[in-house]
Amino acid sequence: MDYTVCVLPGDGIGPDITDQAVKVLHAVGQKFGHGFTFTEHMIGGGAIDAAGHPLPQETIDACTKADAVLLGAVGGPKWDDVQHKLRPEQGLLGIRKALGLFANLRPAVIYPELAQASYLRPDIVRQGIDLMVLRELTGGIYFGRPQGVRTHEGQRVGINSMVYSEEEIRRIGRMAFEIAGKRRGRLCSVDKANVLDVSRLWREVIAELARDYPQVELSHMYVDNAAMQLVRDPSQFDVIVTGNMFGDILSDEAATITGSIGLLPSASLGQSRPGLFEPVHGSAPDLAGQDAANPLATILSAAMLCTYGLGLETEGRAVEDAVHAVLGRGHRTADLATDRSEIVGCSRMGDLVCDQLLGQG
Ligand code: NAD
Repeated sequence: MDYTVCVLPGDGIGPDITDQAVKVLHAVGQKFGHGFTFTEHMIGGGAIDAAGHPLPQETIDACTKADAVLLGAVGGPKWDDVQHKLRPEQGLLGIRKALGLFANLRPAVIYPELAQASYLRPDIVRQGIDLMVLRELTGGIYFGRPQGVRTHEGQRVGINSMVYSEEEIRRIGRMAFEIAGKRRGRLCSVDKANVLDVSRLWREVIAELARDYPQVELSHMYVDNAAMQLVRDPSQFDVIVTGNMFGDILSDEAATITGSIGLLPSASLGQSRPGLFEPVHGSAPDLAGQDAANPLATILSAAMLCTYGLGLETEGRAVEDAVHAVLGRGHRTADLATDRSEIVGCSRMGDLVCDQLLGQG
């Protein structure tokens, strides 16, 4: 099959790391007989400089036409003091909105070779951590109305509203059951149904959906307990689905316990293609252009692009396996290295993953 991927390198290390992911996707094409066509467009600070806007219309048009979008990162000190309307991050928010991306997927995996990077006790890490947090991205308390600060009876009152319609819950719920069905078949829905009416509806709708997915084992957990269980015994989780604010917090918690920011990929998905695939980390301006960044989070985002963006599950798994194998052989970028002799640059790390994928590693 032929696929078009729109690449948005962005700022800082963005170009370094997306170059490596593109290289890996070329290798996927070669190995599995797919044709990948790449188009490259501007986003973020560089787009402000060149086109006067962090998300030029031309970029939106190119993304909309593509089968998938691969993003590096945006931002940097150069644009820190530009007026609010023209901040690099507006490019990110804008593209997510333009593509109707309502679900954010963030896996948290502990690689046995990097177990010492985790903040958890070794006996907990040994149980294994391989979970996925699926966060609703466009609803809930961040967008619900009424919102704002008002004066009531002589004092200021801040208001935000957690609002979910059953359709909003149903579409993220369906995605969660589908994903759990393709993994280990366990879905944990996280809410605060002991306190919040909106959570009671969330729980009800998710439970209704479960009838359509008998092969998936559904459980419910209150968010405060989920926050504890993630550090106490993360091995119990396969897929976690939750609303926007709970997901914001839990996905960062889940990511942090792995300890390796350079290894964390993400995917944002809508009802149809294209999805957006990007590393969790930022533009690391301190490393830009030095061939020193860790490209693995972006390469693993390319793996998610295959699996969740194009339905190429075997190809996605092959990329993940190649990353495991390269780490297993002791290769490290500087951020992960404990021994200077094993350090490789960004580009070399990309080459190692390609070679492994093509059986030349
Ligand atoms: P950051 O993630 O860019 O960097 C935090 C630390 O992690 C730095 O020490 C950096 O060198 C290191 N790091 C990050 N990615 C790395 C990689 N791939 N390999 C090796 N080391 C890596 O976060 P920050 O310093 O808070 O922000 C820098 C800029 O990035 C800011 O302008 C911020 O607004 C922006 N940012 C963008 C995104 C995004 O595009 N999604 C996300 C977060 C921050």
